[in-house]
Amino acid sequence: MLDKEKFIEEIPAVADVCELKPTLWINPNLVDAEKAWEEIPFTEDDILDAERRLERFAPLLMEYFPETKEKGGIIESPLKKIGNMEKKLRENGLKGELYLKMDSHLAVAGSVKARGGIYEVLKHAEDLAIENDLIDPDEDYRQLANDKNRAFFSKYTIQVGSTGNLGLSIGIASATLGFKVIVHMSMDAKQWKKDLLRSKGVKVVEYESDYSEAVKQGRKESDQDPYSYFIDDENSKTLFLGYAVAALRLKKQIEENGIDVDEKNPLFVYIPCGVGGAPGGIAFGIKKIFGNAAHIFFVEPTHAPCVLLGMATGLNNEVSVQDFNIDGLTEADGLAVGRASGFVGTVMKPILSGIFTLEDKELFNFMRMLNETENIKIEPSACAAFEGPVKLLTYKSAKEYLEKFDLMDKLENINHIAWATGGKLVPEDIMQEYLKTYL
Ligand SMILES: *Cc1c(COP(=O)(O)O)cnc(C)c1O
Repeated sequence: MLDKEKFIEEIPAVADVCELKPTLWINPNLVDAEKAWEEIPFTEDDILDAERRLERFAPLLMEYFPETKEKGGIIESPLKKIGNMEKKLRENGLKGELYLKMDSHLAVAGSVKARGGIYEVLKHAEDLAIENDLIDPDEDYRQLANDKNRAFFSKYTIQVGSTGNLGLSIGIASATLGFKVIVHMSMDAKQWKKDLLRSKGVKVVEYESDYSEAVKQGRKESDQDPYSYFIDDENSKTLFLGYAVAALRLKKQIEENGIDVDEKNPLFVYIPCGVGGAPGGIAFGIKKIFGNAAHIFFVEPTHAPCVLLGMATGLNNEVSVQDFNIDGLTEADGLAVGRASGFVGTVMKPILSGIFTLEDKELFNFMRMLNETENIKIEPSACAAFEGPVKLLTYKSAKEYLEKFDLMDKLENINHIAWATGGKLVPEDIMQEYLKTYL
């Protein structure tokens, strides 16, 4: 039996979470970056291997997705200094510089899922192609687009469970390469995302239940078909490494922008979190590249704080938000997850700084503010990222954290990165509705 009361008594953030009160949980298990790697089963070589695989596919991606030509077939988003938003948020307590990592505008899928999701589809295609002697890794991957190879892929099915964006990314990528694809959508998934997928020839199965159930059913259906491959957001190491590549690219952008990053000029990165795979992979990569100069925070809705509960109790995916009488219902469809990924809590244990929760109405306030100050539109889930830089200094636990790292007198040196995880594909009429929500 889960001793809920014990956790509520011992961990203030868990008590807040149970009352649906926005909070900050500081991870007591964070250790020195060098020491963290002893406990983590992934290495920098794993990230480089993923990066090289994406480079092998770049010519093919340019062929299939002309919008990727500008960056040579590499799907990457800008890092943008958002000075007007920064100025506005200073009135609300922000200190330091504010940047937006615009995964909201990534090519092909318009969300962070264009990293991990597309990467796993490409890796699966490559594995099949190599096993069946269609290609060698040093050949031109554009030949995977010829009729014979497309006919080969069409014998195989790719399946995935999704609240929306993962389905979009995997559906679009798989269908484009020639695979059959089935997306199992939870009740949170927005209608326009299902419509868009169906228009691309993707089979969409709808569930009345939440994300975990959609994943479970999808996994089951896929396991019964030897020609089907299930992309498992709750357990996939491949997705995770696809996300981690973001850090190599971020490092370049930070250098190009002349941003100093060291322990006295730290990076504080805030990433909206659902099941934990996308933010986890990005966090792993950033920590690997920037070490102790990077401080990574996740942000979850007050109604779906599954990674916070998993990590704070140490029970990880053995607990769900429903076990704590939390309903899992949120407007942030990308974050509407009741149970964390099976391994992300363990990998994040020595490297994550903490997790914020925020109320749904704040998502829409941040959304309006970003639109008004910068003329940038991102989806509600993605707006969760702003909670971190704005609320950091309002929490006593954050001040203790900053003192521990000798940062209280260097607050203006902090480079805050709000990771905007989605938005480009949201239809304009729906975006206009969002902009009027919770007014
Ligand atoms: C998927 C998603 C996230 C979080 O990723 P997880 O891997 O589920 O934690 C955040 N924001 C948006 C917009 C997403 O689609």
